[in-house]
Amino acid sequence: MTARSATFRLDSRDVRERVSAPVLRRLASEPLGPSVRDVTDRPVRDGSRGKTAEREDGPGYAGWVTVRLYDTKAQALREFVPLEAGSVTIYVCGPTVQSGPHIGHLRGALAFDLLRRWLEYRVGRVTFVRNVTDIDDKVLANATEEEPWWALAYRMEREFTRAYSAIGILPPTYEPRATASIPQMVALVERLIERGHAYAAPDGSGDVYFDVRSWGGYGSLTHQALDAMEAAADADPRGKRDPHDFALWKGTKADEPASATWDAPWGAGRPGWHIECSAMSRRYLGPEFDIHGGGLDLRFPHHENELAQSAAAGDAFARYWVHNGLVTVDGQKMSKSLGNVVLAHDVLARRDPLVVRYALAAAHYRSSLDVSDQAFDEAEAALDRIRTFQARVARAHGGAFGWSSYGPTEGFHTAMDDDLGVPQALAELHETVRAGNTALDAGDLETATAAFGRVSVMAGLLGVNPLDPLWRRAGDAGPEASALDALVRTMIAQRAEARAAKDWSAADRVRDALAAAGIALEDTADGTHWTVTAPEREDAIS
Ligand SMILES: [Zn+2]
Repeated sequence: MTARSATFRLDSRDVRERVSAPVLRRLASEPLGPSVRDVTDRPVRDGSRGKTAEREDGPGYAGWVTVRLYDTKAQALREFVPLEAGSVTIYVCGPTVQSGPHIGHLRGALAFDLLRRWLEYRVGRVTFVRNVTDIDDKVLANATEEEPWWALAYRMEREFTRAYSAIGILPPTYEPRATASIPQMVALVERLIERGHAYAAPDGSGDVYFDVRSWGGYGSLTHQALDAMEAAADADPRGKRDPHDFALWKGTKADEPASATWDAPWGAGRPGWHIECSAMSRRYLGPEFDIHGGGLDLRFPHHENELAQSAAAGDAFARYWVHNGLVTVDGQKMSKSLGNVVLAHDVLARRDPLVVRYALAAAHYRSSLDVSDQAFDEAEAALDRIRTFQARVARAHGGAFGWSSYGPTEGFHTAMDDDLGVPQALAELHETVRAGNTALDAGDLETATAAFGRVSVMAGLLGVNPLDPLWRRAGDAGPEASALDALVRTMIAQRAEARAAKDWSAADRVRDALAAAGIALEDTADGTHWTVTAPEREDAIS
């Protein structure tokens, strides 16, 4: 039985009863800062903390609730004000499922997982959409006779899902596949043709292009003049009015499978990549939503084109554009040609998933992140410091104790509100660990317990709390296993007493009761061992 599983409670019910009287007195009398007071006085309500709605509560809160995000389009930090008070809508470009995820995919998805968690905590309910691009040139190119494109796409989608959930990335509210929104894509292309911003190629190819010269706003996301931009290399330029025109719809080619073809008024084919996201964001979040996210590499042409399509079709589209930085490996750009692509699968086989999450979260989301063994080692050491401190406090208590009424420190709040300053937030967390250790050394358990609470809550907001059952490592006994072990050992002791007293029927009753519960006993020279034999559980516990 580990101290961890026995003494920590993640459950926040009845917290007030378990917080010591001196702590409650201090919470009531001292100005601990709005973060602590807020969390203490207003635990989760209706599944959201509704901070935005509470900003008029009093002068003490004025200005405090401001979350600022760097908006790539505005090229500036902007105060985040959601379209609807108390709720947030986010669309993030998901993977093209042509091959398995690499570390860059994990970093990008994690950046928006951190943003989502923080906005959920600070603002309220977050509707988070991340699509799956399951039809695309590259998906078709990687298909084989044995594995058609749709089977490949689904297999890869599952690989992504596994890797995302391994590092604690929350599942999206909706995860639409492009192939399930074809009618919405066709409708959007039709609107663009009607409005004079798109045209079917005159060469009979079935292609439809966006007419960039018809839309004055083209280039407004990346601040480029049209003539300085790269031409769109997505289709045969002979059908285009301008080489920058990009494909909204790609007419079926002779060598493409019939399963990758959908009917459309201008000819059968399949959607272009950019129109997929414009149509899916509109379908799931409406014509205007709060945040559009993705990797820096998607700004051009993908996001520039998404914006042009949606705006030219009359949609207000994204109100904030947020982009995460890319990943380098040992200081080098990651690329297939350099042969240094780090696959998620390989990293997760070598490193504890919590260490991977911590290492990928530790750099600011907009900076480029260098992946190296050193970065993972540092993450491991940082997590060990947190874990060791938590275990020290638990040992000092020697039993269950309440901690979840504590909130993050004000410094943590400030750092996270300032464009998701995770590096500063982590520094604040470790400063709290240090202060907590100092308090423990001085025998001040009350202060140490408060630090324990704050550290655990701050780590939880970043999804890196070692106490979270998600991070239970192979070999760690969970609380259920520990409780079961304690009960079975008690029964084994009762059976041994009965046998010593030659009360065979009492001893058999114990054995039968355990057998009925699917637990078999084995008497050996070094004592009695037990195993779970019920068919649904194959793993031995003891
Ligand atoms: Zn997209």
